[in-house]
Amino acid sequence: MRVGVPKEIKNHEYRVGMTPMGVRELVEQGHQVQIEQNAGIAAGFSDVAYEQAGAVLVDDPRGVFSWADLIVKVKEPQANECGWLSADQVLFTYLHLAADRALTEALLASGCTAIAYETVQDLHGGLPLLAPMSEVAGRMAVQAGAHCLEKAQGGRGVLLGGVPGVGPGRVLIIGGGVVGENAAAIALGMGAQVSLLDKSIPRLRQLDERFNGALITLYSTRENIEQQLAQADLVIGAVLLPGAAAPKLVTREMLGLMQPGAVLVDVAIDQGGCFETSRPTTHTDPVFEVEGIVHYCVANMPGALARTSTLALTNATLPYVEQLAHHGWRRALQDVPGLLAGLNIHSGRITCPGVADAFALPC
Ligand code: NAD
Repeated sequence: MRVGVPKEIKNHEYRVGMTPMGVRELVEQGHQVQIEQNAGIAAGFSDVAYEQAGAVLVDDPRGVFSWADLIVKVKEPQANECGWLSADQVLFTYLHLAADRALTEALLASGCTAIAYETVQDLHGGLPLLAPMSEVAGRMAVQAGAHCLEKAQGGRGVLLGGVPGVGPGRVLIIGGGVVGENAAAIALGMGAQVSLLDKSIPRLRQLDERFNGALITLYSTRENIEQQLAQADLVIGAVLLPGAAAPKLVTREMLGLMQPGAVLVDVAIDQGGCFETSRPTTHTDPVFEVEGIVHYCVANMPGALARTSTLALTNATLPYVEQLAHHGWRRALQDVPGLLAGLNIHSGRITCPGVADAFALPC
């Protein structure tokens, strides 16, 4: 199969869809790989490394798009890239369509088969291709939030770990999945007082055991959210309803309960965000303020940690890319457990219920 890897062009996106190691595996299995020049540079992978692994370097992204049967990316195609997709191609990347009507319509119009990393499932209903980036984003959320709490960044000037004689900062995490668990680990490691809310009691039970009681676990209700908001220095939004838009759990009105200069980090922004006042931001201009509350809403957080993230992402995606390349998409979707759940768009039709529901379109 012909596998194409274009350079990512989203703002401050430094990751790349495949490492030289992945290229080598595919080439050794008899596939051809074309990669755009400089696609891996920002993540620390040189053109020479790709060539040595057996890829052909191409200087024009349109060349990669028009040649490939399977296009492997990191972020959703940007508007110009959507115009280069055609009906006989498979696109394998993050899409987050429920939060993006224009992209959904562009992919429907292209006729391509689009498989979204974030809705592929494992045997237990987990999300194996979202998990590695959620691990990165969860850990980074605390780092970013701690920085935003500094006065010069508009924050309330609280050090999360406190110091002897001064209590720690308070962190509230809404959603205790992969992002939430990783955020909790880092925030506790920094010495903060951490509370976490989730709707799933079995999940709260697991987290209570994992953190040996150091984490305050609470059932997610409006009342608990309101009480916790009043005390929090840093709030991390980490909920997910797979494939669907994130529920708005903190309204504009609820910001009035918070302390001025407190920080919201909305990791769920790629699914539309779980705070009513969130809007997507970029690494160039990551924060804005609403009602005195600092909002950090970068939709591609792991892009800033390109090397770690590329290695973690491609560890997880490569087995699926190998199956798609080896068997073709039809057989791979049938045979590989959970891959079918990743199919979001095929031949001008939406095939993911969460995306169809978000736009009241047929599935
Ligand atoms: P996950 O499925 O592992 O966890 C989501 C958790 O949210 C689950 O435990 C679920 O029970 C909980 N939840 C659902 N409704 C809730 C509610 N009303 N109140 C409290 N909890 C609720 O998902 P994840 O991998 O942790 O991802 C979380 C979000 O972060 C997703 O939207 C994902 O796309 C996003 N994400 C963003 C970035 C970024 O760069 N911004 C990177 C990675 C992941």
